[in-house]
Amino acid sequence: MIEVKALTKNFGKLRVLKGVNISFHKGEVVSVIGPNGSGKTTLIKSILGMVIPDSGEILLDGKSINGQWKYRSKIGYMPQIGRYPDNMKIGQVFSMMRDLRTDATAPDESVLNSYKLPSLFDKTMRTLSGGTRQKVSAALAFLFNPDILILDEPTAGLDPLASEILKQHILEAKSQGKCILITSHIMSEVDELADRIVYMMDGEVAFDKTIKQIKEETGEERLGRAIANLMKTEHHA
Ligand code: ADP
Ligand code: MG
Repeated sequence: MIEVKALTKNFGKLRVLKGVNISFHKGEVVSVIGPNGSGKTTLIKSILGMVIPDSGEILLDGKSINGQWKYRSKIGYMPQIGRYPDNMKIGQVFSMMRDLRTDATAPDESVLNSYKLPSLFDKTMRTLSGGTRQKVSAALAFLFNPDILILDEPTAGLDPLASEILKQHILEAKSQGKCILITSHIMSEVDELADRIVYMMDGEVAFDKTIKQIKEETGEERLGRAIANLMKTEHHA
């Protein structure tokens, strides 16, 4: 569904993506992990068209996204930190988004309702806790029933119950055949949600393997340990 081919991006002298190749498919949750600064967000922003790569290409359903923007309506994006107009009420944010998205057909209000956000519609964005802000971001990512979900550390800042609710919605979206890309530092969560892990290191893909492969190759049941093992052996290889 999404193919990233030989993607490079420099910020000045800093080489942030050094020829990245990855594909993302329908009905699959892929977790992009790796140390801070390894290029995960730059990769995501390239797919969203918020960062223009220096070379390489990104194809969506076989077509280059270069210079395009309509494809973005297929993507629901949950940024790591959602920024909203301070003086708007929650309800106004949702009605504004609906007004902007005239192309959208049937909205998916399942996350909105799971988080009981309609009862908070009169609250001003400025007054929200980090967790409630995250719930708004999550509800917006799912709202227009996109084929692709890109979630940047979606459960960071959510309380345990809210995290569970979001995980259920992610698994449901996967069963509906959506293509889902998640970044996370929480290995237990990656283990629960992802089919495949792409490990980024210094702007390159260090490995791209299914969780099953990772556990079988290392003989470790705990994903965190399995990955640590794998990184050791890959470095010595
Ligand atoms: P990650 O999401 O894996 O933590 P990022 O993609 O955010 O990594 O960042 C990779 C590197 O690129 C970091 O060193 C970061 O400081 C740098 N970087 C990201 N965006 C910019 C930018 N707009 N201008 C300059 N440097 C940037
Ligand atoms: Mg990041």
